[in-house]
Amino acid sequence: MSAQTQDHSHAPSPALIYDDVVAAAGRIEGIAHRTPVLTSRTADARTGATLFFKAENLQRGGAFKFRGAYNAIARLPEDAKRRGVVAFSSGNHAQAIAYAGQLQNVPTVIIMPQDAPAMKVAATKGYGGEVVLFDRYTEDREAIGRRLSAERGLTLIPPYDHDDVIAGQGTAAKELFEEVGPLDMLFVCLGGGGLLAGSALAAKALSPECRVFGVEPEAGNDGQQSFRTGSIVRIPVPSTIADGAQTTYLGSKTFPIIRSLVEDIVTVSDAMLVDAMRFFVERMKIVVEPTGCLSSAAVLNGVVPCAGKRVGIIISGGNVDPKALAGFLAG
Ligand SMILES: *Cc1c(COP(=O)(O)O)cnc(C)c1O
Repeated sequence: MSAQTQDHSHAPSPALIYDDVVAAAGRIEGIAHRTPVLTSRTADARTGATLFFKAENLQRGGAFKFRGAYNAIARLPEDAKRRGVVAFSSGNHAQAIAYAGQLQNVPTVIIMPQDAPAMKVAATKGYGGEVVLFDRYTEDREAIGRRLSAERGLTLIPPYDHDDVIAGQGTAAKELFEEVGPLDMLFVCLGGGGLLAGSALAAKALSPECRVFGVEPEAGNDGQQSFRTGSIVRIPVPSTIADGAQTTYLGSKTFPIIRSLVEDIVTVSDAMLVDAMRFFVERMKIVVEPTGCLSSAAVLNGVVPCAGKRVGIIISGGNVDPKALAGFLAG
């Protein structure tokens, strides 16, 4: 054997497998909520299907992101945990990292835009995160992140393009299949693809016949374009009320998993998201944020026909400002 073939230092990291999801489930067990699976006769009657809603809006921190954040922090070597982690986000990933860090005694620094909603800044601080504000018109958050990592030895944990984040997100679908058994179809909200990639790994192992669909906002269908052309397509920041899915490209780790295991990626309009939000409040008595409605909106509006099928739907989050929610429902 030549010296070259023994040098694995530049080998790509091995692809994620379902075992990684199982390992993540072990790490978050007893810490993340095993969220309920909800059903609705009204929704079943409207679609002709049997629907199972996995309610990650009721997860700690209000979204599935707690799963991946907790898993990624738990996997760090002790010295990295002591120095701390950094994340940049104005949304659910930031809150999840701050919360997961607090629970594991790991310092967290969250880089947020100066004009981020005060409620989100307050929530992140409330979870013990150190918030560093930046001006998004004149400063580059990645440069700030790199400087902080260099100065303080912080580990950057990205919101979706990271093996331990993907494996953690896959635990929600794992719980769903364990609870309801095999499904014909599974619908998953799609931004950068961490939740979809993890869910597809779980589906492949626990319900191999299940067809998995990603659902994006109509205005930001980079995932659909990428899926259909076979290479990652980048788009400008889309204008949509689904703020958690305003990502502009799939990740280099999430895309290959999605391409090989997912059936298709479909889109829904903002009007459909509002309709789904109203359905959840009126009929199921739950608060779901616009992005969290993507998967349900596709099913409730027949974007993919589901009649006669057993269908899983992952509701991804519930963090919507009450005033904004009231505005959507009144509109
Ligand atoms: C982050 C997020 C998404 C998108 O998840 P990805 O892993 O980036 O695809 C969907 N819904 C909610 C509520 C989120 O916070």
